[in-house]
Amino acid sequence: MDTASPNSTSLLLGATDIHPVFEQNAEGRSPFLFTADHYGRLIPKPLGDLGLPESELVRHIGWDIGIAGVAERLSKCLDVHLIAQRYSRLVIDCNRPPDVPSSIPRLSEATTIPGNDGLSREDAETRRREIFDPYHRRINDVIERRLRDKRPTILVSLHSFTPVYAGVARPWHIGTLHRRDKILPPLLLRALRAEGDLVVGDNEPYAVSETTDYTIPVHAEARGLMCTGIEIRQDLIADESGQQQWAERLARILGAIEETLVQRKA
Ligand SMILES: [Zn+2]
Repeated sequence: MDTASPNSTSLLLGATDIHPVFEQNAEGRSPFLFTADHYGRLIPKPLGDLGLPESELVRHIGWDIGIAGVAERLSKCLDVHLIAQRYSRLVIDCNRPPDVPSSIPRLSEATTIPGNDGLSREDAETRRREIFDPYHRRINDVIERRLRDKRPTILVSLHSFTPVYAGVARPWHIGTLHRRDKILPPLLLRALRAEGDLVVGDNEPYAVSETTDYTIPVHAEARGLMCTGIEIRQDLIADESGQQQWAERLARILGAIEETLVQRKA
């Protein structure tokens, strides 16, 4: 294994490296705006493999397994602008405030991450500046632009969760994560429960908080926007057929919710 320790004065991402922000359907007309904080699992070259074997890097600790395939399909189905982040959450977690310890975790579930141990403030700052900041700046700019243009904007933060965490099996197929918004989450919960074949988590397996979330509190709640997190269990979307089925199901559900919201306003 290669435990490269980056020189704090060098840039993580060179001119030929892949940009952290992935976007699709930037001209999408939908009121929904999708984000995917844990979309990818790239690691900048200077960080090597963070001292971990491939078998660890591909696990849920590195990214949200399956969500990329769901998010891209769903964004196409509903004509939604999708903004996603391509680097591993083990490099820097884009859904954590940068000042909390889990932003650059030294331990995730039961795995210690050698490449994150004893990181200098400068190295942590570099990861923030080159990965976290461009992603959140883009989300911020897109929302500001939409608001200036008087376009309705409903933030849906897409995630997936591991079916077993620390030895405990999780029963939910899907969960909604919500706190301030009292309009969208009840509609979404009702629609998911009406499907009849789903175990639906209401703020399960996670709830929104200032220390465990960034995207929803900062971009949506602080502006009073309608918003929710959606968490899908990873074993259901591990392959393309699962991703397609869940994208179709959520497109139908979110499409109907959009209709309901339009009728309420009319
Ligand atoms: Zn996630």
